[in-house]
Amino acid sequence: MGKFELPKLPYELGDLAPQISQETMEYHYGKHHKAYVDKLNELIPGTKYENMSLDEIVKSSDGAIFNQAAQVWNHTFFFLALSPNPKKKPEGKLAEAIDNAFGSFDKFREEFTKAAVGQFGSGWAWLVADKDGKLSIETTSNAKNPLSEGKKAIMTADVWEHAYYIDYRNARADGVKAALDRTDWKIVEERYAK
Ligand code: MN
Repeated sequence: MGKFELPKLPYELGDLAPQISQETMEYHYGKHHKAYVDKLNELIPGTKYENMSLDEIVKSSDGAIFNQAAQVWNHTFFFLALSPNPKKKPEGKLAEAIDNAFGSFDKFREEFTKAAVGQFGSGWAWLVADKDGKLSIETTSNAKNPLSEGKKAIMTADVWEHAYYIDYRNARADGVKAALDRTDWKIVEERYAK
C-alpha cells in the first residue's frame, strides 16, 4: 500500500442516485479517483515529494506528479461535499456572501452552471472565497485547482466527461445540475467559515 489512500466516503456508492448513479460512482470514485491515488503512490517514492502532505505536493509540483496529486485532491474535495441528504441552500454568512456576489442563490446556480458548461474540455468549476470572504466562480482545465494558485475553494463540480457521461451522455449541464443538487451546503458553509 502506498502513502496516500482513497478516502472513505460517508455514504454508499448508490446513495446519490438518481442524480448520480451507482454505476457512475463505481467508475468515477472506484476507478478514476482510485487510479489517481495509485499513480501518485507510484510516482512519489524517491522524489522530494515523498514526505509531503497532499496539499504541499499540489502547491509545489508540476507535470505528472502535479496532475495526479491535484486530481486526488480535487476528487476528494468534490466527493466529500456530496450527500444523499444534502442541505439544499446555504444560510447565514455564506448565504449573505452569495447574495452579495451573485444577487441570489438561484442566480449563483445559473452563473456556476454557465461557467461549468463553458469550460472547454476537461476541468472543474469552483466557488472560491478570497481573503475577505468575497466569492467568485472560477473554472480550471484538466487537474488545475485554486489551491495551486493560493486561493481557497469552497465547492466544486467536476466537468470531465467521466463525471457525467454514463448518466447524462453529452449533456454537461445536466451533470452540473446533478452535482449542485447533491452538494451539501452545510459542508460548504463549514469550509467557508474556516
Ligand atoms: Mn472526475
